[in-house]
Amino acid sequence: MERKRLDILGIPVDLVDMETAVEIFDHLMETPECSLIVTPNSEILVNATKDPELEQIIKRADLVIPDGIGLVYASKILGHPLRERVTGIDFLSRVLEKLEKTGGSAFFLGSKPGIAEAAAKKMQEKWPGLKVAGTQHGYFKKEEEPEIAKRIKDSGADFLCVALGSPKQEKFVETYKEILGVRAAIGVGGSLDVWAGEVKRAPEFYQKHGLEWLYRLIKQPSRWKRMLSLPVFMLRVLFGRKSAGKGELQ
Ligand code: UDP
Repeated sequence: MERKRLDILGIPVDLVDMETAVEIFDHLMETPECSLIVTPNSEILVNATKDPELEQIIKRADLVIPDGIGLVYASKILGHPLRERVTGIDFLSRVLEKLEKTGGSAFFLGSKPGIAEAAAKKMQEKWPGLKVAGTQHGYFKKEEEPEIAKRIKDSGADFLCVALGSPKQEKFVETYKEILGVRAAIGVGGSLDVWAGEVKRAPEFYQKHGLEWLYRLIKQPSRWKRMLSLPVFMLRVLFGRKSAGKGELQ
């Protein structure tokens, strides 16, 4: 299928709306290799310009979903406007709905102990036919990783949802993708915390007006440093044409 990607800060981002992203997901689930789906926001893209490993992973990813109002603005500034912001958490809902329909199973990896189970339980309340192949919290040692990857494979999951924060989640999938046995994996940041009811998502008003970042800043002020990447990102897109990528379609 025809794909349009826009170069933002030197990284190609899929110019997709929700429907197209779900369509691409369907295709990815038809191929046996593990496809990586990433959901970058401004912070992740700025980090990728400083972390060559992360940059390469995103460049090689099979689907790069523009999660974050900064990317929507950037696409406008660069002359190829995105129709909408596709948040990782909304996309995940669509994926889970699909899995329920197709009988596919999901493995949830990440967040504090108990969160992945609680999130999976809530998801199964919403989609009772959803098969949960397994769960695992995200506070393990590096040495434990191969064992966890093997457990995911042995679970027979078709889809892996990784909530370890970026870039940990993307690097985990990239390192183990040959042995995970899943058809697709996605990094979803703090989405399991939201599903489990640990963290509240911004009310609709904030979501609608592209102000989710403001809500997060009010609720979790300790994130202010991380959030500086939003203005940094916007300034680089606006003025730093050379380092910011030229906004070319690929
Ligand atoms: N996390 C984890 N293991 C770690 C570090 C973080 O499982 O070693 C989890 C953390 O509990 C949280 C998620 O990763 O659920 C990261 O959330 P963050 O707010 O950074 O993600 P965002 O939504 O901003 O991408």
